[in-house]
Amino acid sequence: MSDTDSTSQSDTLRTPIVAVLGHVDHGKTSLLDKIRGSAVSEGEAGAITQHIGATAVPLDTVSQMAGALVKPDDFDLPGLLFIDTPGHHSFSTLRSRGGALADIAILVVDVNDGFQPQTEEAIDILKRTGTPFIVAANKVDTTPGWNPQQGEPIQKSLEKQSKRAKSKLDESLYQLIGELSDKGFSSDFYWRVQNFQKNIGVVPVSALTGEGIPDLLGVLMGLSQRYMKDEMAIDVAGPGYGTVLEVKEERGFGATLDVVLYDGTIHAGDTIVVGGANEPIVTEVRALLQPRPNAEIRTEKRFDKVDEVRAAAGVKIAAPDLEDAMAGAPVRVVGDRDVDEVIREVEAELADIEVTTEEEGVVVKADTLGSLEAMANALQEAEVPILRAEVGDIAPRDVAVASTAREPEHKVILGFNVDVLSNAQDELDKGEVKLFDDDVIYQLVEEYEEFVDEMKRAQQ
Ligand code: GDP
Repeated sequence: MSDTDSTSQSDTLRTPIVAVLGHVDHGKTSLLDKIRGSAVSEGEAGAITQHIGATAVPLDTVSQMAGALVKPDDFDLPGLLFIDTPGHHSFSTLRSRGGALADIAILVVDVNDGFQPQTEEAIDILKRTGTPFIVAANKVDTTPGWNPQQGEPIQKSLEKQSKRAKSKLDESLYQLIGELSDKGFSSDFYWRVQNFQKNIGVVPVSALTGEGIPDLLGVLMGLSQRYMKDEMAIDVAGPGYGTVLEVKEERGFGATLDVVLYDGTIHAGDTIVVGGANEPIVTEVRALLQPRPNAEIRTEKRFDKVDEVRAAAGVKIAAPDLEDAMAGAPVRVVGDRDVDEVIREVEAELADIEVTTEEEGVVVKADTLGSLEAMANALQEAEVPILRAEVGDIAPRDVAVASTAREPEHKVILGFNVDVLSNAQDELDKGEVKLFDDDVIYQLVEEYEEFVDEMKRAQQ
């Protein structure tokens, strides 16, 4: 252990939780796949561990991948945990104790395409949550005249590019740096950054060739080690704290929770409290499940049962009464504490995310608590009143509620990243209630506003 004083003896350092954000098609999924793939192709047993909803890359593997950029002796954080679902709504809707669940973010920007609406949204979210981030300037391989150089740091590889390729890429990168500056962030090529708290490091990468990925991992590791170590100190033996990624029906197990545990430990048999649609759910963990490598999809044998899971990790929890659990909600192991105290804790955390509704307005459905809140904020800004706001797919009851709105422009359901249950579709087909659904908040609000404008024009 090195010099940090505030890390006490009983604390263990956990892996930082990393999220990947950016505009659609800028390469978020490819980047995550490449990181996982290159880790595995390093050929070490245990190169990565696939969790539910997340992938853990241990320090040894990071250091093998990053070469000279990460010397294991310089680090005491155990590695990096990547949340598998990229995109800013999964980021902004996942929180822990009021903050963002992810400790650190990679903002992926296509070098050719620059800042796009979802890049802007992602930046706003990162700013609001105060999450440290780095920029992966992706698709450098598409630079005209690019000559791929695998296996060495990107800075070296840049030196080997033709003048034309280099100046073309420089131009795009400086443009990116300018766009970040317009957003109030000072940034630079990562190798020129001295203090990653003050300056955002821009890492040129290619999710296709893998160039720059060693650098990206090196910067993530270095940044977490240097600036976030205190936050990574957890009481690993203490009761588990987690956030629900998803509520999933699973054959043989009923409703289960995909959870990212960010503090403490959870055991099979533990009593837990989970945020529910109506009230906190108190239940007992029947099984803790981890994906079994190469398992057949759609059988119960897809999972291995484990006795305990320590933070930071992704895990599937099977337990009775989870039907009403909400994605984005907190999960707490009760441990030695009084269960009522834990219920109050969960309630207090949920109260922060409450959405104000009115007597008249539209119905809003969203996939997680955080996205519901984000939708409510966007609608409030657009001065659209909300009659009811809930997490979950669109059910017949929602259509019935929407039809009770007085104004025709409010006989509407706005669905964010949710499905329509088939019996609800039958109700919608009757035509009294109109549905808008999208997985981009600003587009959803825009679509609705256009509809209202059109309706008003038609009335004149
Ligand atoms: P996402 O929507 O941000 O998750 O983007 P994807 O990872 O799905 O990538 C969108 C498209 O860009 C796909 O066709 C990818 O193959 C391609 N792509 C992603 N990264 C790179 C890259 O570094 N170089 C090139 N040439 N193509 C890339």
